[in-house]
Amino acid sequence: MKCQYGGCNEEVFEQSGFCILHIDLPEDEKSERFIRINDLKNAAIENKKIKEDFNFKGVKLNSVDFSNLKIDKDLIFAHAIIKKDFYCNNTEIKGDIWSDNVNIGEHTFFEQSNIIGSVSFFRAEIGGNISFDKAKIGKYAWFEGLKTEGEASFNHVEINGSLSFKEAKIIENVSFYASHIEGHAWFDNAYIGGNTWFDFTEIKGGLSFKNTNFRSLKGQEKAFRNAKIIWERLGDRENADYHFYHEMEAKRKQKPFYVKYPELIVQYPFGYGAYPFRLLTSFLIILLVFALIYWIIDGNSLNSLLEKIRFSFLVLIIPAYGVISAKSDIYGLFTIFEAFIGAFTWPTFIVTFARKYMR
Ligand SMILES: [Zn+2]
Repeated sequence: MKCQYGGCNEEVFEQSGFCILHIDLPEDEKSERFIRINDLKNAAIENKKIKEDFNFKGVKLNSVDFSNLKIDKDLIFAHAIIKKDFYCNNTEIKGDIWSDNVNIGEHTFFEQSNIIGSVSFFRAEIGGNISFDKAKIGKYAWFEGLKTEGEASFNHVEINGSLSFKEAKIIENVSFYASHIEGHAWFDNAYIGGNTWFDFTEIKGGLSFKNTNFRSLKGQEKAFRNAKIIWERLGDRENADYHFYHEMEAKRKQKPFYVKYPELIVQYPFGYGAYPFRLLTSFLIILLVFALIYWIIDGNSLNSLLEKIRFSFLVLIIPAYGVISAKSDIYGLFTIFEAFIGAFTWPTFIVTFARKYMR
């Protein structure tokens, strides 16, 4: 009888319906049955290694050690379930690594390995850390939708294509210290629970954290600052501004409460000078609110409303005009207050607009 796992042609193991590699491991690790099945699984793995068959799709193993090997083809662990660690250090892989939907209970290591092709861990689940320290990846590195309970460590790694952690969930730190990425690096819509390190990292393309969710403000600040610098170098102002805005937001949130909350005014209506249209909207709202206040205090007809809008506009763009024409009653106090706001808003608007659209 053949194994019931789709695409598997091995003989079933003891009427279980599955071959030795696809059969579940017994729960009790100390039981005789567990030890016997685990030994047979390891023997089957060794056997496949000798036959140079590296297709381990959907296998169920206790742990994997593929360190110090030379593999001439693709290494496939898609949909596999590994209860403990996955070791593949110092290994040379001529093809790709396909580990989509793999489930690894503890840590995953590909340290100092040389992978000529691409690496894919699409929607993989890892119970511990994932480390590619000092590894080389010849093409793309796909970690989209990956979930790891520990760190993602890619220090001194060399990637010849692009890297994607879109929609990934990394509970601890993300580290790319002194690594080199030839293409882009995407972390859009990802969740990062710890700190981030991109010091001395060279990224030829962009580094993107669009809608990335950070639990650590320090991590957010550092990640967005690194991304901002990279986009500025690429001359992409829109992305540089996006990352600058979120870097400033993280900085603001780390300040004491008496700075943190007043600075909300700089973040939202002023948009840290990154969003001229947001500023324009704020400007128009201030203009109309003050015009209404003047009209309520002083006016009564439609004509006088238009007059108040004109007056409010003049006070905003020429604060001196407002101060000079201020009366000594409540009306005058509002005029001075609006002139004060205008003294900041109008120049900020001009600077923001010029920075965004003029060269
Ligand atoms: Zn099978």
